[in-house]
Amino acid sequence: MSPGPTALPTRERADSCPGALETHAAADGALARIRIPGGALAATQLRTLATAARDLGDGALELTSRGNVQLRGLTAGGEGELGDRLAAGGLLPSATHERVRNLVASTLSGRTPGGSVDVRPWSAAFDAGLCAEPALAGLPGRFLVTLDDGRGDVAGLGGDVGLFDLDPQTVALTLGGADSGLRTTPDDAVALALAATRAFLAERAEQGGTAWRLAELEDGPARIAGRVGGTSTEPVAVPPSPASGPAGAVAQTDGRMALVAVVPLGRLTAAQADLIAELATDAQLTPWRSIAIPDRPDAGAAAELAAAGLVLEPGSAWLRVTTCAGLPGCAKSRADVRADATAAVTTGTLPADGARQHWAGCERRCGRPRGDVVDVLATATGYRVEKS
Ligand code: SF4
Repeated sequence: MSPGPTALPTRERADSCPGALETHAAADGALARIRIPGGALAATQLRTLATAARDLGDGALELTSRGNVQLRGLTAGGEGELGDRLAAGGLLPSATHERVRNLVASTLSGRTPGGSVDVRPWSAAFDAGLCAEPALAGLPGRFLVTLDDGRGDVAGLGGDVGLFDLDPQTVALTLGGADSGLRTTPDDAVALALAATRAFLAERAEQGGTAWRLAELEDGPARIAGRVGGTSTEPVAVPPSPASGPAGAVAQTDGRMALVAVVPLGRLTAAQADLIAELATDAQLTPWRSIAIPDRPDAGAAAELAAAGLVLEPGSAWLRVTTCAGLPGCAKSRADVRADATAAVTTGTLPADGARQHWAGCERRCGRPRGDVVDVLATATGYRVEKS
């Protein structure tokens, strides 16, 4: 629990990122974004979100590219009730910091091969440290922290501050998605990331207080590294983030299995969330709009998840298609992009089949993934396919 202040610190420029308490007025009602640090959700919390979606929202949990959850179409006056439910469920440890707990972590860290540390304790410790410092509530809502256990799945997501494990004794500090050259040990890694986060806020203030992201600061990485201090080594290349995460059954190092279910277009229904809560004591949301269900005795539940509409085939077209909200959620949209993309996937008529593609209702292209993506843009006369 945070001892943070009751009033938000002044933000020098309007920060429109929605939160769980400061919702966004969308065309289909209020939209609440609930930060899930490291994507880590206990089964009880998943049930809390599913029930809230059913009672107060449009019946689904929207998964974001940062492994957070959005509830849409909140009923008038439902925000207060939602806040109470989230707080009771341990999903709102700090009312003042709720929008700045943007933290992605390696998928299934500590459970599946690929990394040399378990970043789950880092995730919990960083979040607790963040929420314990009143000044850090002043971070922009877009500030992102990445915690990569060495498998290279999230270090390349362009986090403002990140930890990238290089070997069991050495952790690199990343700034703006690139290696800063600063090194630490796993035990001291969270303290270094918090120091870099404070340094970002101090540098941001010195440069006028208007930058949302570290990349917007003049000479940001060097200045923040200088504020943090320490001996620098030759930076290593940070691997680009993969186009999609794992899907299907993944063997854990302890002999058990994890199931990774991709959620078509990121819309997890309350019924699907309840089913997952039955199968695991905890789950992890990923930046690829999927949900990892660990510690299964075998892969037998995959059929049940697939029957519920989730996707466990690594080659499925659903892994390559993302959309913005579109109509009816966004008044700017020229089309119901989700319905149109769903029809294209299910009828096998995707316009650029085989390619990653992002369908959007207007040129803003909200939710577009990083990297090589074909744009499928709604226009007044149909969709225009733009290959980058
Ligand atoms: S891309 Fe345009 S239509 Fe889609 S959600 Fe963003 S603003 Fe709305």
